[in-house]
Amino acid sequence: MAKYSIIVPAYNEEKSLRLFYDAVTPLMESLQEEYEMIFVNDGSRDATKEILKGLAAEDKRVKVCSFSRNFGQQAALLCGLEMSSGDAVIAMDADLQDPPEVALEMIQKWKEGYDVVHGKRRKRKGETVFKKATAFLYYRFMRKITKMEMPKDVGDFKLYDRKVVDSILSMGEHDRLLRAQTTWVGFKQTFVEFDRPERVAGETHYTLKKMIKLAQSGIFPNTDYTLTFPLKLGLLFGFLSVACMVAFIVLSCCNIFYGGLVAWLFPTVGVFASIILVCQGFANIHTSMIYKEVQNRPKYIVAEKYNFE
Ligand code: UDP
Ligand code: MG
Repeated sequence: MAKYSIIVPAYNEEKSLRLFYDAVTPLMESLQEEYEMIFVNDGSRDATKEILKGLAAEDKRVKVCSFSRNFGQQAALLCGLEMSSGDAVIAMDADLQDPPEVALEMIQKWKEGYDVVHGKRRKRKGETVFKKATAFLYYRFMRKITKMEMPKDVGDFKLYDRKVVDSILSMGEHDRLLRAQTTWVGFKQTFVEFDRPERVAGETHYTLKKMIKLAQSGIFPNTDYTLTFPLKLGLLFGFLSVACMVAFIVLSCCNIFYGGLVAWLFPTVGVFASIILVCQGFANIHTSMIYKEVQNRPKYIVAEKYNFE
């Protein structure tokens, strides 16, 4: 018999929590298997903590972890993963935007042998055009720059097998975007589609500033393109500048164009700019290598082993 962990980050969710608990509990009970529901109170300023303590007192399967201040949804999810003990872990938002019945579909897929089941959003209600457009562009850009097959239109509503949780927890970086790490670790992944409803109560906590921070955490730990770019640009500049100088010399030898001091100014400046960019690029490669050491990701992840016992 399997054990499931539901992990729920909650920030100022006093109006949603009871509704969430009442919706998820009967569904999980219908499985007739063991489960725990871990709420992570992310430094809420409303009655979230008191409500969660009340739920924990009523039901021993409810576990609560309360942060000393607001650390953000990603930190709350990480805490949930660290505290979980289930064979499969399902991350859900507290506002019922992740429909509980879809979690059952995820469990079904897990039983079929998948290690990660993403919740893929078909329609998103109650979200501004700006949010939908930026999410659309961001994930496409992210796939290009990180060269990772990040699934599109997918958030943090997911099921993770225990081995995936352990792999993610073995990644040492501080600044993390869980959904990017989930792609990085690999394993057998699939998705279930759902229409994302509006929040059951309250309002989104994602301000533009928080969204930019999140976008940044997805890109920088997963690519060194930003660091190697100056070297590539420097080499290109250098090549173009030298080519321009050679062309000037050839043209002047053929008595076609002598070029004045002004004409020579451009390739000369180009060569110096290129030297600076190339030196910066070399320094950046060192920075990138140091970052990878600090990030301390596993060098590989073994999914299966045979005849090793
Ligand atoms: N959340 C959190 N810390 C934060 C912001 C959000 O724990 O700083 C939680 C929030 O309570 C919810 C989930 O993360 O359970 C998703 O947040 P929200 O609904 O505001 O995001 P949206 O669905 O609008 O993207
Ligand atoms: Mg929400």
